[in-house]
Amino acid sequence: MMFRNKQEFKKEFSQRLIEAYGTTVDQTHPTEKYLVLGEMVRDYASVNWKDTKVAVSENQAKQVYYFSMEFLLGRMLTSNLRNLGIYDIVTEGLEELGIDYENLASMERDAGLGNGGLGRLAACFMDSAATENLPVNGNCIRYQCGLFRQRIDDQGNQVEVPDMWMRIGNPWEVRKLKHSVDVKFWGNVEVHGDENGNLHFNHVNAEHILAVPYDMPMIGAGTKMTNTLRLWSAEAADESPSWMDYREYLSEVNQICLNVYPDDSTEEGKYLRLKQQYFFVSAGIDSIINTHLKQYDTLDNLGEKVSVQLNDTHPVLAIPELMRVLMDDYGYSWDRAQAITMSVMSYTNHTVMSEALEKWPVEYVQKLLPRIYMIIDELNSRYGRFLNERYPNRQDLWYSTRIIDNGMIHMARLAVIMSHAVNGVAEIHTGLLESELFHEYYSMWPEKFTNKTNGITPRRWMLYSNPELREMLKSHIGKGFETDFSKIEKLMNHVDEPKLQEEFLRVKQKRKEILAAYIQRSTGIIVDPSSIFDSQAKRLHAYKRQLLNIMHVIYLYQRIKSDRNFRIYPHTFIFAAKAAPSYVFAKKVIKLINCVSKVVNSDPDVNGMLKVVFLPNYSVSMSEVLMNGSDVSEQISTAGKEASGTGNMKFMMNGAITLGTLDGATVEIDRLVGRENDVIFGMTVEEIESFRQTYRAMDYVNGDERIRKVLNTFIDGTWNGDRDDFRTIYDELLMKNDEYFVLADFDSYVQAQEQISARYQDRHAWARSCLINIAKSGYFSSDRTICQYADEIWNVKPLKF
Ligand SMILES: *Cc1c(COP(=O)(O)O)cnc(C)c1O
Repeated sequence: MMFRNKQEFKKEFSQRLIEAYGTTVDQTHPTEKYLVLGEMVRDYASVNWKDTKVAVSENQAKQVYYFSMEFLLGRMLTSNLRNLGIYDIVTEGLEELGIDYENLASMERDAGLGNGGLGRLAACFMDSAATENLPVNGNCIRYQCGLFRQRIDDQGNQVEVPDMWMRIGNPWEVRKLKHSVDVKFWGNVEVHGDENGNLHFNHVNAEHILAVPYDMPMIGAGTKMTNTLRLWSAEAADESPSWMDYREYLSEVNQICLNVYPDDSTEEGKYLRLKQQYFFVSAGIDSIINTHLKQYDTLDNLGEKVSVQLNDTHPVLAIPELMRVLMDDYGYSWDRAQAITMSVMSYTNHTVMSEALEKWPVEYVQKLLPRIYMIIDELNSRYGRFLNERYPNRQDLWYSTRIIDNGMIHMARLAVIMSHAVNGVAEIHTGLLESELFHEYYSMWPEKFTNKTNGITPRRWMLYSNPELREMLKSHIGKGFETDFSKIEKLMNHVDEPKLQEEFLRVKQKRKEILAAYIQRSTGIIVDPSSIFDSQAKRLHAYKRQLLNIMHVIYLYQRIKSDRNFRIYPHTFIFAAKAAPSYVFAKKVIKLINCVSKVVNSDPDVNGMLKVVFLPNYSVSMSEVLMNGSDVSEQISTAGKEASGTGNMKFMMNGAITLGTLDGATVEIDRLVGRENDVIFGMTVEEIESFRQTYRAMDYVNGDERIRKVLNTFIDGTWNGDRDDFRTIYDELLMKNDEYFVLADFDSYVQAQEQISARYQDRHAWARSCLINIAKSGYFSSDRTICQYADEIWNVKPLKF
């Protein structure tokens, strides 16, 4: 029976602990207590989980499957307890048993099944979809190791260590062996015609791998709706291929789910990555078909009952895979299969940077997935014929938009051609898709393209992680915003009240003290919670320009050192970022930040005014402490490069002021809060485009003494005595002409920082700006985003039961 109150909870929890471990409650380890609690919560949710499946089936509801190579879930315990409405019963019950809830919750290891924003978006969508009663299921890989954990060594280098996140077990998952499916690689295709002249394709000599699903409940807030995140695990089939050594087979099987590829921005290695992609896509499609056929005896209505959303191009093989199943396994004609596939598939683009657009050599796909290759090749030919008929004099179109180009398969092109809907993730980004990257397709099919500005779940990112702010808001605007986050805008009626402004400053101070304690625990650095907490937390990438930020810190350091009268309002600059292990430049920037931090923090001339912190191992649970304890949100990417950003929204929702360029969703933040309530600097997309041809980084070195002095420290040994260590950074800016316009935006950034300092000192005006940011953050709830996908792309309705 499910517990209904504190007494019942205490009784069941103690009983389960004893039964599971055969010791008294006090003898059990905190990890054991966490595991038992997690399992209890999962079982508690299982009744709703079952009811959801029954309701979907009874209503013959359309189901959505969100295919994403990444789900950056973070910890689930608090979110699940709160969403189920049993947080108080459980935490009070534990307290009466003498158990500290926070200690127990900290035993949970982040599910770091992703790199960054793209994976976190998928996780926010799962939370919002269930909360909005939308039947949206996730499909991904059960990675043995999450994204690497980051340590910083004595020299300031990033060191990657394995993330064995499931070492103590994962109480949220349920292994569903009965839903296992077979996935085939390698081998060859036999073609034979039948008496009616139809061709049949047979994939023979394949390596078979068993895909076993592990399901995790995705629990909605204040509803029974409980969706499924299905994580696929590769296991050896009962037979190994005759042509392959048995040990080699086992090692291939074990590789597939071993880890997350630690790179979300460049085309990454080779067969294993391709294998991972096809593995979870093929298993996912198979399982969709099986589920569908249990309810309906035909696949004719697949497009009415199923939508598949492709989160970036990583799962785009789902397109030829569905075609294959429809034609080869269920006898559909090419044209019918293509029509059904297009009605099912839609695609979300996450980048316009050409080096990040996924392409696969024909040869790889041909060898690893011979039948899939045949289908892609045929799709390409038919696309060529279509172009010929519709635009007979436009050979150029064929060359610029064909799927297979120069021996490479362009996954984004395949996705756009074969989806009924294509979306970007912020207005400026969708605009760039339409005018640049997908311009030709947009001219052919303008109706396919829509914008879906990203969002974040307000529960994890504010209501649950910032209780001080939540309670403050409740006492001023009532509780309605907790269930309908758009109501947060009511706060606009109060932003001028000095009492509220002071109350907000106290809340922020409390969160800053919590962050300061976290900083001290993880780095030993003592920071002053009354200084300005200025944070840049995101993956390390040249386009995100952490370099611009640290160059400004270096400039301040030099200025304070050389000019006795120069004073700044005390600042704590906080960085958190992981670099892809093979990304040399990014790792150097991390090292630079750490070296600057060491010099600055130990220099008594400056450390009353200036502190620099690099927080190691950026992750979801760190963000939950970092974002709401910050005053300033650094969103300083080169305009046109950041598709949306979601970190910007987390800061905003917790009352930090954005210091940013007009890029990604920051453009929309700026429009909503107004230029008085953020600080915008730097070149716009248009300015950068027209400037690119004539830009000479050297001119900025010659013309600006501040830049010259800062750059000199990269080659004179200032930071660690080694003159060559940071030369790559120097060369990137000068020899390679500063691809991301760091020097061009430097002056404007310094001025923007001066504005921040000035505005911060008017405490009431600052608080008012923060409150306006919070009040306007309703638009960035992923509840809003997911409802737009449901209405405008999937055509699914909320399911009430
Ligand atoms: C939100 C989030 C991101 C995305 O941050 P951006 O600033 O949008 O790049 C990346 N990683 C983690 C852990 C996050 O929580």
